[in-house]
Amino acid sequence: MNTIPPVDLVRQYKLISEEVDLAILNAVRSGRYIGGDTVSDFEQQFSQYVGVPYCVSCNSGSDALYLALRAFNIGLGDEVVTSPFTFIATAESISMTGATPVFVDIDRTTFNLNIDLLEKAITPRTKAIIPVHLFGQPVNMTQLMDIAQRHNLYVIEDCAQATGAKWEKKKVGSIGHIGCFSFFPTKNLGACGDGGAVTTNDPALADTIRTIKEHGSRQRYYHDLVGINSRLDTIQAAILQVKLRYLDLWNQQRRIAAQRYHKLLKSILEIQLPQELSGGYHVWNQYTILVKKKKEKTENFRNYLQKELQKQGVISMIYYPIPLHLQNVYQSLGYKVGAFPVTENAIYEVLSLPMFPDISFKEQQQVYYALKECLTT
Ligand SMILES: *Cc1c(COP(=O)(O)O)cnc(C)c1O
Repeated sequence: MNTIPPVDLVRQYKLISEEVDLAILNAVRSGRYIGGDTVSDFEQQFSQYVGVPYCVSCNSGSDALYLALRAFNIGLGDEVVTSPFTFIATAESISMTGATPVFVDIDRTTFNLNIDLLEKAITPRTKAIIPVHLFGQPVNMTQLMDIAQRHNLYVIEDCAQATGAKWEKKKVGSIGHIGCFSFFPTKNLGACGDGGAVTTNDPALADTIRTIKEHGSRQRYYHDLVGINSRLDTIQAAILQVKLRYLDLWNQQRRIAAQRYHKLLKSILEIQLPQELSGGYHVWNQYTILVKKKKEKTENFRNYLQKELQKQGVISMIYYPIPLHLQNVYQSLGYKVGAFPVTENAIYEVLSLPMFPDISFKEQQQVYYALKECLTT
């Protein structure tokens, strides 16, 4: 029996190993390990890919979010609205500036923040909204931008899981005021280490972000702002230049794999399949199903299913087991159990199945048979 991992980065590497090896060697041989043309060329290529004039690279998606908030001068006393069903970095970046994260419950079919609930969370202190394009599914940015404009709020897109996704033909990261990307290895465009980028249409914002990420300095040893050190390494930029050329193909392969899952799994009534929102181009960083609860089982049925699948060689993941508003770190925000019922249900039901561009039909069939077996016995 083969084991099917949640992602297989070695398989991806093997397909492009010659190009990646050469890019790494060239970077090492150049002696230029920080910055240089390799980094600025990648920034230019990535901004073109996203469809904006400016891209500032940085060390991680987490830094990208922090830099974006700082660029708007968001800090103590300000509120930023986001989803409680995301990776911690989204909210943490808000807290790092001194501002307060304010959460809004999600929509059960998209796992993204429920736009109908957004306006109720806006107060005179709200400065920005961070929509998260979770699992590769774009948020309905038409509705979101409309609300943001009416309330005069900045929009920072968390595109970490959605590089290449589109809302109504526009790439995510080009629709809000700022887009934040992660090149963590398992993201759709992943480096061989950490990396991130900020995209924007606004030259002044790009300049501020570049200044903050370079120790608040526009001219070396002259510091105008309190900044940080956040760089995309030259070697990572060289690798990303190679991988960017494959990203559209890989996203198409993810979409094909998602279609195959839809067809294979639709007869299994105990699970709810993810759906692509009309108007969106989903890039399937995750294929996340909902496993409905079973009354007769005392143990959480999703947890049971995950263990059973593992016995059959199918490794699944739980994104995310604890919503942000109930994390220890955010107890001081005062949210109680029951604050966001859709999110609080989802955490017991979500299960992300193996998903990567070159997952084979046979492997997906094995996932199907394993699920079928576990659910009927
Ligand atoms: C991965 C991720 C981040 C953080 O990116 P890093 O590069 O790991 O810092 C932020 N938000 C979301 C939704 C993510 O999935």
